[in-house]
Amino acid sequence: MDLGIRGRRAIVCASSKGLGRACAIALANEGVDVTITARGAEALAQTANEIRKTNPSVTVIEVVGDITTPAGRDAVLKACPEPDILINNANGPPAGDFRQWTRDDWIKALDANMLTPIEMIKATVDGMMNRKFGRIVNITSSAVKAPTSRDLSNGARTGLTGFVAGAARRTVLNNVTINGLLPGIFDTDRLRESEVLAEAEKRGISVDELVAEHGRSIPAGRVGDPAELGLFCAFLCGANAGFITGQNILLDGGAFPGTL
Ligand code: NAP
Repeated sequence: MDLGIRGRRAIVCASSKGLGRACAIALANEGVDVTITARGAEALAQTANEIRKTNPSVTVIEVVGDITTPAGRDAVLKACPEPDILINNANGPPAGDFRQWTRDDWIKALDANMLTPIEMIKATVDGMMNRKFGRIVNITSSAVKAPTSRDLSNGARTGLTGFVAGAARRTVLNNVTINGLLPGIFDTDRLRESEVLAEAEKRGISVDELVAEHGRSIPAGRVGDPAELGLFCAFLCGANAGFITGQNILLDGGAFPGTL
């Protein structure tokens, strides 16, 4: 399927690894020029080179910086001032009960997972509306639909989701959509290096065994492949996806047990 976005420009935030990387690859495979970002230069350069190798006709711009800071956002917007597509993504907040978090912890979580995407939308949405094409996708979490014991994440991501629910209905008249992708468990570096590692070590089993165990607890019988989320993200960014806005779409292998 040709998604009709060849030659469009995308900013994909936090995209040297994991879900962001998968979105950048899927968009580049559709002929979209991508500006990709991360704090670490090495993995970012590696991802950029992989994309260039697979898609020599696509322009790939690397921006090293922290997307949750004003300087990080300015650098990205300077590199790609008029994106047609914006994928918002950043590191998630640490796990834990609200009793352990201070006001500063909350501000940090809100900055990363609510205010940064809002700032990026604010900086790009009017240009998209004037040009009558824009696709904005926020990578959030299945916690938006089924809150977990990660209180910082529940709060910050639901705040963003509430904001988008209103804004997405005011931009779509100009063919600018804003949607949320809600990942369940995906096999990314984050899962392997921070989420699962400590538990695997504690139980004396390998990370692979523990990831497989998590997978068996999901109706699909496995954890998600980031490429699956990337492809869905590219579809939402397609020329013909202009009738989908303000939605929060779970990609969780059936883990959420509800009907709606
Ligand atoms: P990941 O594998 O650790 O990849 C994160 C990517 O984002 C890396 O490229 C990282 O590079 C970059 N990054 C992180 N913070 C950044 C920042 N402040 N500024 C710029 N780049 C930044 O993580 P992931 O699993 O793809 O997760 C992505 C998001 O989805 C997170 O918010 C996570 O909480 C959420 N999520 C993931 C899952 C899952 O199962 N994987 C499930 C639900 C929600 P640098 O570290 O070099 O900056």
